[in-house]
Amino acid sequence: MDYDMLVIGSGPSGRRAAVQSAKLGKSVLVVDRGRRLGGVSVHTGTIPSKTLRETVLNLSGWRERGFYGRGYRVKQDISVHDLVERLHKTLDHEVEVLQHQFMRNTVKSARAAVKFLGPNKVSLTSDTGDYSEVGFANALIAVGTRPHRPRDVPFDKTRIFDSDEMLELDRLPRTLTVIGAGVIGVEYATIFSALDVPVTLVEPRNSILDFVDREIVDDFIHQMRDRGMTIRLGSAVKEIRSKPEAAEVELADGRTIRSEVVLYAAGRTGNVGSLGLDVVGIDADSRGRIKVDPNTFQTSVPNIYAAGDVIGFPSLASTSMEQGRVAACHAFGVPLPPPPETFPYGIYAVPEISTVGQSEEQVRESGAAYEVGVARFRETSRGHIMGVNTGFLKLLFSIETRRLLGAHIVGEGATELIHIGQAVINLGGTVDFFVNNTFNYPTLAEAYKIAGLDAWNRMGRG
Ligand SMILES: Cc1cc2nc3c(=O)[nH]c(=O)nc-3n(C[C@H](O)[C@H](O)[C@H](O)COP(=O)(O)OP(=O)(O)OC[C@H]3O[C@@H](n4cnc5c(N)ncnc54)[C@H](O)[C@@H]3O)c2cc1C
Repeated sequence: MDYDMLVIGSGPSGRRAAVQSAKLGKSVLVVDRGRRLGGVSVHTGTIPSKTLRETVLNLSGWRERGFYGRGYRVKQDISVHDLVERLHKTLDHEVEVLQHQFMRNTVKSARAAVKFLGPNKVSLTSDTGDYSEVGFANALIAVGTRPHRPRDVPFDKTRIFDSDEMLELDRLPRTLTVIGAGVIGVEYATIFSALDVPVTLVEPRNSILDFVDREIVDDFIHQMRDRGMTIRLGSAVKEIRSKPEAAEVELADGRTIRSEVVLYAAGRTGNVGSLGLDVVGIDADSRGRIKVDPNTFQTSVPNIYAAGDVIGFPSLASTSMEQGRVAACHAFGVPLPPPPETFPYGIYAVPEISTVGQSEEQVRESGAAYEVGVARFRETSRGHIMGVNTGFLKLLFSIETRRLLGAHIVGEGATELIHIGQAVINLGGTVDFFVNNTFNYPTLAEAYKIAGLDAWNRMGRG
C-alpha cells in the first residue's frame, strides 16, 4: 500500500481526517482537483461569505445603526473592491494555515482528479494530463458539493449568478433578487440588504428555515421586512430571463420581478460524477449524495469512508470536520464515545440565527410538558450599551426533569452565544443552572440568566 489513508478533497472533513490520521502516525495523501487547498469552505462557501458579511457590517456601520439611525454609514461609497480586498487577505491566510498544518503533520497533498480503480486503488489525473495510480488501505471521500444549476436557468455571470459566482461580482448590484430562502439564500440576501441594496427574496414554499423554531423565524422575517426587503413566500418561479437592461424572474402567479442581478441559490449537488463509484459498488442518490453508517461514516465498502456535504444533511463545515475526525479514528481502531446529543446550527444572516436542541414545535410533538423562558437583548444592559434593540433568546425546559431541551437565538452574537446552551444541554443541565450561577455583567450572555429566571418563575423550585 502506498498510503494508510487517502483523502479525496481538502475541505473541512478531508482536512480533519488527514490531520487526525497523521496524528495517529499514519501515512496520508490528500488529493484535491482544485487550484488551492481548502475546498468549498475556504474558497466559495463558509469563509468567503462570512468575511463578506463582516466587511459589510463594518463598512456599513450596521451594528451602530441602533444608536445613530438607519442612515448611518462608516464609509459612504462601498465598492466591490472594498469587499474583495479583505476577502483575498482572509482566504490567503486560511490556505497558508492549512498548508502549514499539513506540512507540520507530514500530510502529503497532490492536485489531481481522483477516480476509483478498485477498493484499494485510485488513479490521479492532473490538469496537464499526468496520470498515476495510488494504492491505499483506507480512503475518505470528501468531495463536497457544487451549486445546483438547472438547465433552464440562464447563468451568465452578468445578470444571473450561482452562489459560487457571487464572489466574482464586478460591481455592487443596484437591485438583487435571490431565489431560494435556504441558509445560503438568506445569508446573501440579508448581507446585500445591509448594504442598502433593495433585495427581493423568492421562495416557492410557504415557510423558510423549517428546522428552526418558528418564533425565531417569524421574528427574523419581521426584521427583514421591517428594513424594506421584499419576501415572496409560496412563489414558484416559472422562468428566469437575462436581458440587456435587467434580469427578469417570472413567477407562476403571473408577477415579474426585475432586478439588476439574480442569485440562484436553490440547492447543491454532490461531486460524485467522475469518481468511478460504480467500479467499487458505492451508490449515490439523484442529488449525488452517498449513504454512510451515521456512527462510523463507512460507505457500503468498509475501508472507504465518506464525510462532509457529500453525505447530505446537515452539510455544515462544523459537522463535516467532526465527521472527518470520527471516520479517521474508526479507520484506525481508535475507540470513540457515543456522539453528543445535539450540535448547534449557525445561520450567518443579518441578523444572525443560531439554534441547538429541540424547537418548540418538536417539544410539543414529543408530548413532553415544557416551559419557555425568553429574554430580549434590549432588556440587557449590554444591549443598551451596544444599541441593540432587536433580537432575543428563547429557552425550552422540561417541567418533569427541569432539563434544558432547546436554545434558540436571533440577533447579535447568536452564533457565539449558542454554545452556552449547547454545553448545558449536552451536560444534562437544568433551569437551576441559569438561576444559581452568576453571569458576567454587562454581557449579552446575561440573557441566559434572564430567560432562565423567566421560566423558573413559572416552573417554581421543582
Ligand atoms: C455560501 C456558503 C456558505 C456557507 N456557510 C457556512 C457556515 O457559515 N458554517 C458552516 O458550518 N458551513 C457553511 N457552509 C457549508 C460548508 O462550506 C460545507 O459544509 C463544507 O465546505 C463541506 O466540507 P466538505 O468536507 O464536504 O468539503 P468541501 O469544502 O465541499 O470541499 C470539497 C473538495 O473536494 C474537491 N473535489 C471534488 N471532487 C473531486 C475529485 N473527483 N477529485 C479530487 N478532488 C475533488 C473539491 O475541489 C473541493 O476542494 C456554507 C456553504 C456555502 C456554499
